[in-house]
Order: sequence, then structure tokens, then C-alpha cells
Amino acid sequence: MPVFLSDIHLSSLPQITNKLIEELTQQGIKNVQDLLFHLPLRYEDRTRIYPIAKLYIGLSAAVQGKIIHLDTFFYKQKIFTVTVSDGKNEIVLRFLNVSDKFKNFFLKGKLVYAYGKVKQGYTGLEMVHPDYKLFTPQRTPNIQHNLTPIYPRLGNLKQTTLRNLTSKALKILKTTSVKELLPVGLYDGQITITQAIHIIHRPSKYTNISILHKNKHPAKIRLILEELLAQNLFILKIRHKNKKATAISLTRSVFLKKNLLKQLPFSLTNAQIKVAKEIEDDLTKTQPMMRLLQGDVGSGKTLIAALAAIQAIENGYQVAFMAPTELLAEQHIITFCNWFDRINIKLSFLLGKLKGKSKITELTRIANGEAKMIIGTQALFQKHVKFYNLALVIIDEQHRFGVHQRLEMRKKGLKYEIYPHKLIMTATPIPRTLTMTIYADLAISIIDELPPNRTPVQTVAIPSSKRSDIMKHIYKACLNEEKQAYWICTLINDSKVLKAESAIDIANKLRKNLPNIKIGLLHGRMNSNEKQKIMNEFKDNKLHLLVSTTVIEVGVDIPNASLMIIENAERLGLAQLHQLRGRIGRGKIASYCVLLYHTPLSKIAKNRLSVLRNSNDGFFIAQKDLEMRGPGQILGTKQTGLIDFKIADLMRDQYLIPKIKKISNYIYKNHPKNTTEIINRWISKNNVNYDKA
Ligand code: ADP
Ligand code: MG
Repeated sequence: MPVFLSDIHLSSLPQITNKLIEELTQQGIKNVQDLLFHLPLRYEDRTRIYPIAKLYIGLSAAVQGKIIHLDTFFYKQKIFTVTVSDGKNEIVLRFLNVSDKFKNFFLKGKLVYAYGKVKQGYTGLEMVHPDYKLFTPQRTPNIQHNLTPIYPRLGNLKQTTLRNLTSKALKILKTTSVKELLPVGLYDGQITITQAIHIIHRPSKYTNISILHKNKHPAKIRLILEELLAQNLFILKIRHKNKKATAISLTRSVFLKKNLLKQLPFSLTNAQIKVAKEIEDDLTKTQPMMRLLQGDVGSGKTLIAALAAIQAIENGYQVAFMAPTELLAEQHIITFCNWFDRINIKLSFLLGKLKGKSKITELTRIANGEAKMIIGTQALFQKHVKFYNLALVIIDEQHRFGVHQRLEMRKKGLKYEIYPHKLIMTATPIPRTLTMTIYADLAISIIDELPPNRTPVQTVAIPSSKRSDIMKHIYKACLNEEKQAYWICTLINDSKVLKAESAIDIANKLRKNLPNIKIGLLHGRMNSNEKQKIMNEFKDNKLHLLVSTTVIEVGVDIPNASLMIIENAERLGLAQLHQLRGRIGRGKIASYCVLLYHTPLSKIAKNRLSVLRNSNDGFFIAQKDLEMRGPGQILGTKQTGLIDFKIADLMRDQYLIPKIKKISNYIYKNHPKNTTEIINRWISKNNVNYDKA
């Protein structure tokens, strides 16, 4: 009977100590599969001895010869050189700051083997701190038969230990039949998992090392493919479950919709009309909507949320609207009060700070169905919150929530086997590569147009040494032209370690230098009443200038603010800078954003700032961000769940995605047992309980 690799216990490895098992377990290696899925980072070719004449700069190679000269001298540090000759040519082995004891092993006339990267030295070719072995003619060092794997760090384990362990595991594979989860003949060049593992850990000396390093070897592809497949199958499974689930069919709103639109000082953009219709249609169905609404900052997503909410409310049901932060939730509360009070829709607010009697009141109003529109933070989905008849959940700024939380929330809304509809809104445009994988369980609507009369924000990057010039400009703009400005800092307090401006510091500096200007300070350590007070003052135009940390990053909407200065812009990511900048350019007045940076700028920081100077297009910026940083970071490594791949890399391996889609549909349809087994192998049950998802 073929066995699952994960069922082979570490204790089956010959002569393994309990201590070592414990160490491995601590590093997340719990069985032989985990061990064998810890893949080499790169390989070294120690299968042949190079004649020194054949070496060239940059090559990593092994040489062997007789020590003909030794030298110790001091140049900035203690240097010890060993000159080796293979009879025809010479190479220098260079060691820095080594002890006398170390040096005493090297004697003229002794034989030495060295493996290292060839460099240009002062007198000829050199290797710095090579791997070496001294030997005698009777006992020459072993020549390796395979390329030598170099593993990524695993705790304090040495490379030799890792090699030793994998050798033992591979030996077991030779005598055990391992369960193969891919049916044969799925794609050209398909090999079995057993073959793939053997090749990856011990490639023969004829294997093309550069194809291995580029992750394009069929053996590596075999594993990458299976992992991406697992994720795709997982999503197919969720989708299938979702299809079978029931939701409340909500008929189109006539009355409330008309009344809401009537009171707006503007009409919907074409893009808003289009996505509103997509959502409206979804909501009429008895299958739960799972829709992601993407729209750049300021594209008017909140109104779309309101329209969706109204459809549920007109049908007599409740809507929950969740924001990622208290500040943003409070902003939404203001907006919705404004819109919904007039059409007589009862709201409720659930924020973390709500305590005692007022909390009980709100919970009661939610439970007895009096409150129709419930706005809050994660607090909305705590156990003690009972909804009367929740039919729609709206989540703003999805990128703050991970896949797991998304699945978690689906469970929370469950009532009598009836799921609420879900609308997820994000201003972080998600590049296609990612939507096709991580978000493949969601339908997607895109607002690809900003409301009219917006002047694109003009962005400049200026070294922070010119800060006082900027201050003068701001002074004039605020006092004479009645403009409002944000001054964004990356830190709250001054930091000795980081060379970054703190909000408190800057606020003091500005207050000193800009008399007559009313300055407010906002940061994450203030309590939410204080924060709200400052925000309101700024909104009501009682403050000229708001010095703030990046807490205002998402969602804040104050159309009259048209200037933004961002300190230490070089420290922030593209997506974050774009989000911040999205706070301005919301009104008719021309808006300006100043990116202040500390010199010297790294190349990547320079690139980031120039992307921002040249574009206001969130999708373009997101694509650049993905290219520069990779998907894990964009979505927040911790929160991404499914994106924590063991082996695959969405950016690097995206060329495989079309192929994987095909294969996964085929396997899902024809091999249900394999489907479950593949998912189980790659997606940790602790992370995601897909059976309940
Ligand atoms: P975001 O998509 O970033 O959440 P908001 O929903 O906060 O954007 O909208 C930004 C601003 O644009 C708000 O002040 C909103 O009232 C306004 N707005 C929304 N739709 C339109 C429109 N069709 N025409 C003009 N202004 C609009
Ligand atoms: Mg918003």
C-alpha cells in the first residue's frame, strides 16, 4: 500500500536522536514530508576538480593542489593567505582574522582541497574563506557524485546535518512506495513526486544548474504545480459549497433608492451605475453574493455600499457594515447618518470603545431588529452580537482582512443554514495574477472611473532639507487662500534609532514656525474620542493643518483638504503612499502632494517615488508594487493565509497559472479523492478549516 509522505514519522530516520527530532519539530518540520519539502535554495558543483587554468571570475568551483606559499600581513585587518598550485597554475586562498591555531594547520607542502567562488585578487585569482580540507596522498577527499544542495536556514542546524537528514529520508523513499496524488498524463514532462524529490535534493552532476536555480527544472515545477493546484482546488471547493448555500433573495429597491439618490448633490458615474447594477442583480438571487468591489481611492465606493444596503433594508432585513479601524468606522457613521436619517433608516454603531449601558442598548436594538444598518469594526462579529435578520455583510478595505477572516465571517453570519450576501470593498487594486488565485472565490466589480471635476493630484519629491521652503508655501496657502493641508509623519514619538520625523515633533516645529495657523495633531495612540474631535474640527474647517501619522491612511474623506506633505516618504510602500495621497484631490481645487525624503535614497525608494510622481492610477501603481515587492507583502504577510506558499511564488510562477486552472478543473471533476488529498497535503488544517468554510 502506498503511504502518504506526511505519515512517515521523523523517528523512522535511522539513528536520529530525540533531541534532533525536537529541534526539527520546533522549526515546523514534523514529519518526513516537511523535511523533504524544505527545498534547497541553491546548489554547488563539487562533482569535479577544476584545473586552476580553467577557473574564471564568478565561478564557484573546487580546486586541489599543494601549498607553496604562506603569508600573514595586516591591511585594515589581519590577513592570512595560502597559495596553492596544481602543478601548472596558482590560486590564493584568503582568510581574514583567523587565529594562530587555525594557521598552524596549513604547512608548506601539504595538500589542500578548496571550494569557493573565484574572485580577482591582487596578484591573480583568489577564493575568500573557501570550504577547505587538508589531505594526504593516501586519503584524498571524496568527490561528490551529485550537485551539493544548500538548504535555507533551519534553526541552528548545520548544512551537513540537513544533508545527512535528507539523505536518510531519500533512502527511505527508495524502499517505500509513496502515494502519488497527480493522475498520470496531466501535462507534458510530468514526473512523479518521488522522482521530483530525489532530483531536487540530489541532482546528478549532469543536471543544468542554472535551470535549477531559475526554478524551471521539471522536478521543481512538479512541486510548484501541485502546490498551486492545491490552492486552486481549495477555492473550487469553497465555490462549490457557496453555490449550494442559500441566501435571501432581495428584490430591487424602488422607494428608498429613489429617495437616497434624490438627496445627493451629484449623479452617479457610469462606473458606479454599472457596479451598482451588478450588485443589485446578485442580491436578487438565492445564492449568496460573494463580490469584491475594487475602486481606486475616491471613486465613490461608499455610495455603492449604501445602495446595496438599501436593497436589503427595503426588503425588511439588516445590513452589517464593517470597517478596519475605529476612525474609518466613525467616518462611515457620519456619512450614513447624513444619508439615512433623512430616509428614516435606523442605524446602530458597534465600536470597541462602546461600554456598559449604551453597549447593551445597541446590542438589544440589533437583536430585536430595530436597527437596520449596523456599522462598526471587527466588534460586529464578536460572539455576543446577535443579529435579528442579517441579509448582507459589507466589508470595507478588504486588504486589511485576510482570507481566513473572510472565511470566518462567512460562518458568523450563518443563521438557519442561510448565508448573508457579502460585498467586500477595496481601494487596493489587486493585480490580475492575484485575483485569479487568492480571490478566485469572489466575483469582481471594478469602478474604473473617478467622479467628474476631480483634478489629478500633482506630486513632487523634495529632499527634507528643503522643509522650511515647504512650510512657507503652506503658510501662504492656508492663511491667504484658505486651503487645508495634511502633514503626514511615519512616527508618533521621536526615535533615536530611526531617522524619521515624528508627528509630535513636527507639530511642535510647525506651531513654532507658523503662527496664526491652526494646527491639529492626530495619532494612533490617542483615544478615539480625541481622534474624532480633531477629525471633526478639521472637517469643519476649524483647523488649517492636520499633522497626523498614517492612521488616516484609509477612507478619510475631507474634500476641502488639498495639500499633503508626507515626511520620510522613502520609508513607505507604494500602496500606502497612494492611499495617503488619495485623501486629497477630492474636491474641485487643484491638489498638491509633496513627498519629503531623506537622502541618500536607495534605488528602490527612488523608483517608488518616481512611480508616484508619474501616476495617479491605482491599478498601475499596484502592479508596480507587486513587481517590486511580491504578493506576500502587498497583502500583508501575516494575514494572507492562502498566500503563504511553501514552495510556489505567485510572481515567479504566474506563467503556470493558466495550465493549473485547466488541470484543477479536470481533477476536481474527475478525481474527488485526489482533490481532498492534494488540499490536505498543502493547505494546513490549522490555518483554514475548509470543511466549515
Ligand atoms: P472611496 O471609493 O475611496 O471609498 P468615497 O466613497 O469616500 O470614496 O467617495 C469619495 C467622495 O466622492 C465622497 O465625498 C463622495 O460623496 C463623493 N462621490 C461619490 N460618488 C460621487 C459622484 N458620482 N459624483 C461626485 N462625487 C461623488
Ligand atoms: Mg472608502
